Amino acid sequence: TELSQEWLQNYVDDWVSFYRKHTSDGKVASYIPILAEANQDHLGITILGKNGMAIRSGDVDIPFTLQSISKIISFIVGCVERGIAYMLDRVDVEPAGEAFNSIMHLEMKQLKKPFNPLINAGAITVTSILEGETSEEKIGPILDLLEKMLGYRPKINKEVYLSEKLSSTRNKAIGYYLLETNFLESELDVTLDTYFKQCSIEITVDDLARIGMILANDGVNPDTQEEIIPRQEARISKALMLTCGMYDASGKFATYVGIPAKSGVSGGIIAAAPPRVREEELPFLEGCGIGVYGPALDDKGNSIAGIRLLRHIAKQWDLSIF
Ligand code: GLN
Repeated sequence: TELSQEWLQNYVDDWVSFYRKHTSDGKVASYIPILAEANQDHLGITILGKNGMAIRSGDVDIPFTLQSISKIISFIVGCVERGIAYMLDRVDVEPAGEAFNSIMHLEMKQLKKPFNPLINAGAITVTSILEGETSEEKIGPILDLLEKMLGYRPKINKEVYLSEKLSSTRNKAIGYYLLETNFLESELDVTLDTYFKQCSIEITVDDLARIGMILANDGVNPDTQEEIIPRQEARISKALMLTCGMYDASGKFATYVGIPAKSGVSGGIIAAAPPRVREEELPFLEGCGIGVYGPALDDKGNSIAGIRLLRHIAKQWDLSIF
């Protein structure tokens, strides 16, 4: 394993330097002002597998915020707290085919519930369903689950949280619409405050890769065999990531990369490559998790170099689940 790992590491280093040049094709997010301070050139990746397999390359030590990636975690927590049936009664699991902050589809006549938990309307609904009266109470179990996976309790980046809160006109509009149509199960202010906090949780690519590895293994830490996320919640999350995780570029991502993944506007991507039968020489890629960070985004809001890097890796190592 040692030799092969070193061999893979060299490849990844080359690919990261190559795709770093692609960051200039994208733009860092600026609708949340503080996100515009990110370094456009950054690109980093961590791949974690069982038995301590780790490949880390590029800017792996830069902290960034979960943003939309938090929608997976809050969905899992909500399902555990209330039950999957309760949750799926209130949020659908269909790709919206619209931008993540779309408001237009909410008014469609036949719409009984927000399209899915990974667009803002669905995520805000999920957050309103979480147990607790205050945002501190609601965010607690999200941080608990993250702590269980990461081995430390992540912090909420206060500056990002405030910046989100002060530039949240669109999310407020979505929130008011959800309130008016009786989708919200908590006070609007508490719900939005919790949502801004979950988006502002600070992590690194190592953390994303660790969560990705646990999801890839249906919620179980492959090294300790401990179940951290219930199996069904983990599987539904992966289905949602594959169908809805990359906004309205999810179809292309499924086609060209083929790994369940979720992106955020800070430039992070989490990917979970479920175990599958493959050539024997790469057994330690079975059930690996991948974290990518590259804040320069494409026009859909996904890390531009991050997607290209993942596409390259998935092709080279045959990681597509199809
Ligand atoms: N906090 C961001 C928002 O609500 C998260 C969106 C995202 O990462 N796509 O607009």
